[in-house]
Amino acid sequence: MGSKTNTIAKRFIIKGRVQGVGFRPYVFRLAYEYRLSGFVYNQTDAIVIKVQGDLSDINKFSADLPERLPPAANITSLSITTEPVENIKTFTIKESLDLNDDISEISPDIAVCNECLEDIKSQHHRFNYPFINCTNCGPRFTIIQDYPYDRRTTTMETFSMCGTCEKEYIDIHDRRFHAQPVACSTCGPQYELIQNSVSVSRIQEIILRVSQLTEEGKIIAIKGLGGFFLMCDALNNSASKKLRDSKIREGKPFAVMFKDLNTIEQYAFVNEQEKKSLISWRRPIVILEKKKELAPEVGKNFNTIGAFLPYMPIHYLLFEKLKTTAIVLTSGNISDEPIIIDNHKAQAALSPISDALLIYNRDIYNRTDDSVVKIINNKEQVFRRSRGYVPEVFELQINADSILATGAELVNCFCLGKGNTAILSQHIGDLKNYETYEFYLESIERFKKLFRIKPTLIAADSHPDYLSVRYARELSLPIVFVQHHYAHIVSCMVENQLNTPVIGVSFDGTGYGDDGNIWGSEFLICDLKEYKRVAHFEYIPLPGGDKATEEPWRTAVSYLYKIFGKELTYSDLPFLKKIDSNTVSLVIQSIEKNINCPLSCSAGRLFDAVAALLNICPVSDFHAQAPMLLESVLQKNVTDFYRIHQDDTLSFLPVIQHILDDMKNLVPVSVISAKFHNTVAEAIKKTVLSIRETSGLNQIALSGGTFQNKYLTECVVQKLENLNFKVYTQHLVPCNDGGIALGQLAVAAEKRKNSRLNELQEG
Ligand code: ZN
Ligand code: ZN
Ligand code: FE
Repeated sequence: MGSKTNTIAKRFIIKGRVQGVGFRPYVFRLAYEYRLSGFVYNQTDAIVIKVQGDLSDINKFSADLPERLPPAANITSLSITTEPVENIKTFTIKESLDLNDDISEISPDIAVCNECLEDIKSQHHRFNYPFINCTNCGPRFTIIQDYPYDRRTTTMETFSMCGTCEKEYIDIHDRRFHAQPVACSTCGPQYELIQNSVSVSRIQEIILRVSQLTEEGKIIAIKGLGGFFLMCDALNNSASKKLRDSKIREGKPFAVMFKDLNTIEQYAFVNEQEKKSLISWRRPIVILEKKKELAPEVGKNFNTIGAFLPYMPIHYLLFEKLKTTAIVLTSGNISDEPIIIDNHKAQAALSPISDALLIYNRDIYNRTDDSVVKIINNKEQVFRRSRGYVPEVFELQINADSILATGAELVNCFCLGKGNTAILSQHIGDLKNYETYEFYLESIERFKKLFRIKPTLIAADSHPDYLSVRYARELSLPIVFVQHHYAHIVSCMVENQLNTPVIGVSFDGTGYGDDGNIWGSEFLICDLKEYKRVAHFEYIPLPGGDKATEEPWRTAVSYLYKIFGKELTYSDLPFLKKIDSNTVSLVIQSIEKNINCPLSCSAGRLFDAVAALLNICPVSDFHAQAPMLLESVLQKNVTDFYRIHQDDTLSFLPVIQHILDDMKNLVPVSVISAKFHNTVAEAIKKTVLSIRETSGLNQIALSGGTFQNKYLTECVVQKLENLNFKVYTQHLVPCNDGGIALGQLAVAAEKRKNSRLNELQEG
């Protein structure tokens, strides 16, 4: 090696997801393969490699480098420069330069890799061993208790490595070199199946029994990577029904894990982009269009399936034996509570609703749910950001150090700033639920510890009653309050690295407005410093306030009352047939007398009203069910839309009247829904056109939960791009309230930057 005259040296600087994913050992092995000398080390934001050797070997090395990456690694930039040759004979992994502050070392959990799936059938000490992992795969975030990432700081610490595992762990040529959760049948964690107080611990026996139970239509509580799940045969309707009843989850579709991609394609339409998301190492639940029905109780009238592929070794072992090719795998929680992670709690809470409990003896430290994505406009859009995504950081163009953004309320995530990066928490849930609020508090403390952050500035929603806002106040630190819909748009701007003014279209179900009303159809002109509300939908009273969210018929009645007043015989309306007539009269009286009728311009409520009017969803079982069902029934390739009345406020009263006419003329619900969606898209188009005319702005940021609607978003983007607008949407950050905290963080950072400047100027 090295001393011949044609020896040259090259330096590679690589950026991307290159830390905590087995990149350095990978580089080492590749350099070894081509007999190159040199070194590799981590820098805060990059990996630096120096290699020396024959030109042809270096060329092979550099061609292979991006091609044979560890599964979770990803290169965003690679620069190669020629260097002077040094007197180095070997290749070494150097200590990281900036170890103390290197937060990007913490990787999300990674689905079991193909090589491990081969090892599980060939390695004697790991034969059918369901905790097999390597530097390229396995648990990460869920087991990390502290920094730096090391076996001692994970929940693997209680398992001491056997001689065989240790040998692999210290051998740089081994794929398990420094794989912190390395384990085998002798020394690692074990599963245990508990059924009628009888415990089974041999893995073959466990797999066999679980398969039998599943075949018999039983429900099994099973400990996953980030929490417990409830499982049953997705082709067995009575099992699915039983699971639905016990979880008190009336209308929400279940996620389904399929044996393989081929099976998914039997039940759902899968395009290239969707395939990519399904097989990615993150293994999210991907919402796909349904092709064939599973058990009806699984999908519940939706035209979509939340599908995902196995990601833990145990899933693969199970599908080898299972007769069914699809299983329901839904979070092990009751209603709105957080997913259970503790064995004892699972035993207490899940045993009564399941026939057997499959646990293991390694603790889950950081709770994660399965992440949920949908492909919109050929790009992955994360709706629920958790396993496989968290704690990945976002680069900011502004210093947000020591800022804590406390998020929203219903779909809460919080966000912490460290230097120029933002760390968005996993999906926390609805803070109004007591257990969820506890989880929120606990997670904030854990993130602070894990990432070494001591907040000095807080960012919070401007809603006076949100629990996240009350919490913010309790901290006795300076607070920057950020209007909800503005935070949505800034979240989108930050994700797309925009820092010049945009036209923001912020549509969602609810958010506290500056005038004290409920907003949710906001057209803003904004940058990171300030915003101006330039248009919105017409206000309508929401009879019963929050109650209207659960009972869309109330909003429908409110629209009708605004049009017809007392002239209508409400009890005759089909969608009110199942509603108690006294309640209906009380609601009408409350509108007349303006009692408990806050004003709202929310787009979500408009979708609710239309869904109720069409009798698709007069009463809602879960958050956003009505808009989801309305999208679900729509017929594609309808281009027609309803006329709207438009000046500064957009009135949909004429649209409601047209819809009533269409209903009278027996136009199918699917067509009416499509026309309504097109109308909303058209309203957005017209409004931003007139804003462009007066402001000269051409870039649009779309955010807010309403844009989880695939049809609407694709329709809006197409209409706007046809008019040469530059349109930005969200992808790695949820456009629902789960993304709010990132926007709050950036607004607070900007405010701090400017006030500091002022101080400097004054001083
Ligand atoms: Zn592996
Ligand atoms: Zn071992
Ligand atoms: Fe929102």
